[in-house]
Amino acid sequence: MAEGSSAPTEVAPPGVNINVPHSARIYDYWLGGKDNFAVDRAVGEAMIQAIPGMRYMAKENRKFVHRVARDLVEKEGIRQFLDIGTGIPTRPNLHEVAQSLDPTTHVVYVDNDPIVLVHARALMISRPEGRSEYIAADIRRPTSILDDPALRDTLDLKQPVGLTLIAILMLLSDEDDPWGKVAELRDALPSGSCLAITHPTADFNPDEVNAAVAAATGAGMTLVARTREAVERFFGDWEILEPGVSPVSAWRPDEPVADPEAAYYWAGVARKP
Ligand code: SAH
Repeated sequence: MAEGSSAPTEVAPPGVNINVPHSARIYDYWLGGKDNFAVDRAVGEAMIQAIPGMRYMAKENRKFVHRVARDLVEKEGIRQFLDIGTGIPTRPNLHEVAQSLDPTTHVVYVDNDPIVLVHARALMISRPEGRSEYIAADIRRPTSILDDPALRDTLDLKQPVGLTLIAILMLLSDEDDPWGKVAELRDALPSGSCLAITHPTADFNPDEVNAAVAAATGAGMTLVARTREAVERFFGDWEILEPGVSPVSAWRPDEPVADPEAAYYWAGVARKP
């Protein structure tokens, strides 16, 4: 007998498991997208119960992507990006922001979720003067990204690269050694390259964030909030740019923010000397 309250049967694209919640789809749900399933909405809602400002946080995180793409092009001279943990496309995507400033910009997107792969075509609609490519790979194996022919074909690793790790590193446990993986990526890039990171933290509101983490881990996900010190360590010996590792809303805001700590993410950008 069918349950009266169950949703219409959901059809998943090949390789997409709709019995286990996935970060890309939960995030899509918070942002108002359609590429999510009942299991994702359940965890997404449980996390909103824990953190009522969750949708606001997701939007603040996206606004940071736009500001950082702009500043890396305009202020740091970056014309190539490597974006790992891209997520389901959300307009404007990083290459759209960067190419609106310099259409010759090249972007390589990387994600390990099959549902993002389904949408990769949308990420590859580049300005004709530039390029954008997609690689299905895992940040836990940096060489599989760095040695991918599509990356080598799209990015010149002798020229500065903007490496963007936006809301991905919390999905790696300490046992995955995210600091070691990020160091491998940093080491592959030349002087003048920049690294941008956002990362959720319990530093501003431990009760809400710990409850959200419990909701996610209870559903079988890996999700780790990290301290400012732990986030700063991702930058290694690179020079952290102004205003330092900051609440995401306070990183070079376009307009004054009433409560910068209302979005529980640290954000920072550093440049390789
Ligand atoms: N960077 C985007 C999306 C964040 S959601 C933004 O901030 O708007 C996190 C993304 O990281 C998801 O799409 C998820 O599939 C991806 N991801 C999670 N673990 C990953 C891994 N080990 N390797 C590559 N991508 C990963």
